[in-house]
Amino acid sequence: MIPFNKPPYTGNEDAHVLAAMRSDKISGDGAYGYRCQQWFEKRFSCIKTLLTPSCTQALEMAAILLDIKPGDEVIMPSYTFVSTANAFVLRGATIVFVDVRPDTMNIDEKLIEAAITGRTRAIVPVHYAGVGCEMDTIMEIAGRHGLFVVEDAAQGMMSTYKGKPLGTIGHMGAFSFHETKNYTSGGEGGLLLINDPQFVNRAEIIREKGTNRSQFFRGMVDKYTWIDVGSSYLPSELQAAYLYGQLEKAEEINRARLSIWNRYYNALKPLAERGLIDLPQIPVDCVANGHMFYIKVAGLEQRSHVLETLRGNGIGAVFHYIPLHSAPAGRELGRLHGADVHTSRESERLFRLPLWLAMTPQEVDQVIQAVIDAIDVR
Ligand SMILES: *Cc1c(COP(=O)(O)O)cnc(C)c1O
Repeated sequence: MIPFNKPPYTGNEDAHVLAAMRSDKISGDGAYGYRCQQWFEKRFSCIKTLLTPSCTQALEMAAILLDIKPGDEVIMPSYTFVSTANAFVLRGATIVFVDVRPDTMNIDEKLIEAAITGRTRAIVPVHYAGVGCEMDTIMEIAGRHGLFVVEDAAQGMMSTYKGKPLGTIGHMGAFSFHETKNYTSGGEGGLLLINDPQFVNRAEIIREKGTNRSQFFRGMVDKYTWIDVGSSYLPSELQAAYLYGQLEKAEEINRARLSIWNRYYNALKPLAERGLIDLPQIPVDCVANGHMFYIKVAGLEQRSHVLETLRGNGIGAVFHYIPLHSAPAGRELGRLHGADVHTSRESERLFRLPLWLAMTPQEVDQVIQAVIDAIDVR
């Protein structure tokens, strides 16, 4: 049996988690929390990063920081995880979904401008499979209309667009360290990247239950008090310590995933050339991180058949998002602007192959052979 996912693990984590456990400080923002944040700020040259218990919560913080209010509209693709929408819905926003590009499954940047109204406040591009959205166009549209851009870079850590790390291009970005992502902080975790200085101070306050506790610890105020809305958005030191073990091996993890991705790509390319499947496409401006390997077949019926065949052969292949605009909550809390040309159709064709750090070349080859057997039936 080859499962769809196994959490990334390097062997470095144990010693760091043990050290955190014995440090007499295991709540958030201890030594490991700061070490992680410093690592991100240096590696991605951004002004402020804050660890959060999940990417969901990093997106929630972004929505609070943007002062999203009832009646505001937020533009995003419908082909995404529920948290992208929920974070803004929780502040009262209406979600305006826009169709995706079939080559990357990312929001179609050419359709964004027509979806903007007087109530639009933000655009939330999602870098699906760790492949960058067309950010220059998106930032240019946002600039012209005075909108904020929050990158859902949950899958995008270590990927770049025109040389810039995903998550550092919009006003804010969010990473996920859930066990299914390229890096994990022990199962659950996230990061808010802040690229616009106007949000830095308030982000620290919102994250500390609406208090100026962070400033107090830096000696900037004599006592700390309740000054704004907020919640508890600090992960424990054990999560930060686990993540730190993976950050020390960040490049190795990235290389290992890319090599699995390339092995899949090269072996399955002949099927694509014969028109039997479509493979992921990486635009020339993008460097990806091997987060996900997906295949597209003719449609829903063939996909069900292929998934069943693969599972019968012990391969944990899975489909992905049900478009949010067609989900019960999505119909109530949002609307699709324009036509659903690609989102539903492409989502029904797509499934994902197992891709995790510890996969051996033999396991990858076993999956490849099973895919060929399931699809190339002559
Ligand atoms: C995983 C994911 C999230 C949520 O991340 P959590 O850390 O589990 O909250 C949000 N958006 C996208 C696109 C994701 O893939």
